[in-house]
Amino acid sequence: MIEASEIEKAAVLIKDCREVLVVAHEYPDGDAVGSMLGITLMLENAGKNVHCSWPAPAGTPGRYRFLPGWHLFIMPSEIHDVDLVIAVDCSNVKRLEGLKIWLSGNTRIINIDHHPDNTLFGNVNMVNPEASSAAEILYLCASKLGLDLDREAALCLYVGILTDTGRFQFSNTSDTTFRVASEIVSMGVNPNFVFQNVYQGDSLQYLRLCGHVLSNSVFDEDLGMIYASVTQDEMKSHGVNMDEMQDLVDYLRTLEGHRIAVLFKELEGGGIRVSMRSKNEIDVGNLARRLEGGGHAAAAAYTSRKKDFGSALAELRREITKVGRNPGGR
Ligand code: 5GP
Ligand code: MN
Repeated sequence: MIEASEIEKAAVLIKDCREVLVVAHEYPDGDAVGSMLGITLMLENAGKNVHCSWPAPAGTPGRYRFLPGWHLFIMPSEIHDVDLVIAVDCSNVKRLEGLKIWLSGNTRIINIDHHPDNTLFGNVNMVNPEASSAAEILYLCASKLGLDLDREAALCLYVGILTDTGRFQFSNTSDTTFRVASEIVSMGVNPNFVFQNVYQGDSLQYLRLCGHVLSNSVFDEDLGMIYASVTQDEMKSHGVNMDEMQDLVDYLRTLEGHRIAVLFKELEGGGIRVSMRSKNEIDVGNLARRLEGGGHAAAAAYTSRKKDFGSALAELRREITKVGRNPGGR
């Protein structure tokens, strides 16, 4: 639940501001992009001078390019003084590194999120871990924030809800989620059109890279962990960008009888991005926080500073044996 007083405070900040910057976390996913563009469009319709951005490396996930509002996206270097920052789908300030958003002491921050580990870093915090997505919160609160939701903004929010719920199948999918989706479809958003754009646009190179990565996956029966890895060289030789790899971990989690699915992705500038998904025994959010990352109980990630996959795997194994065997419930 988000307290009514927080929504009222946010509405006042929005009413009184002129220059707004909407931001989302690094490696933006469908909820980050959809929520960011959705509220940016609503603010533009309300006559605000508004832009959106996210931290570099700002690879723009190609599959969301069909969404309206991209003209309002600016590079982090183009950010100028703003009087209001609205952060969506972002649990802490560290995930906004690279955005110089604290330019003036007068900048106010509205924090709209659904991560259970949100640090409440805003002047106003609209955080609800029960919500499927930041986009669902935005849909439910738009009118209370004094914002009009038109079909274009609703399309963006639909993409946020669709992708964060794994197409309405993950454990965060509620009756509210379906009600919101139904209302959005009633506004004229076409689910098949969204499906074609978001889920039917993979390149042949990506499919082949998936085949390669999956054929090298390993199942550790002892830990119940299925894992796979992908190097920069493999991505480059296949002609695949990092931002195309967001859903690859979902193939791993289709394995019967696993407890945790993990994908190790080598980062361009060094380090390894580790994406984890779990059924319901292991709280991967806790696991990720122990390794300076974070996320939800069922989906979380962190960046390992280890130089090779073997060391990153050993590091993760150590943490799982510490907490994984006694996860303390979810
Ligand atoms: P993904 O594996 O798709 O990158 O991330 C899975 C989930 O964990 C997403 O909800 C994402 O926002 C969250 N997440 C990923 N990395 C971090 C991190 O470093 N800190 C926190 N707090 N959450 C993260
Ligand atoms: Mn989200």
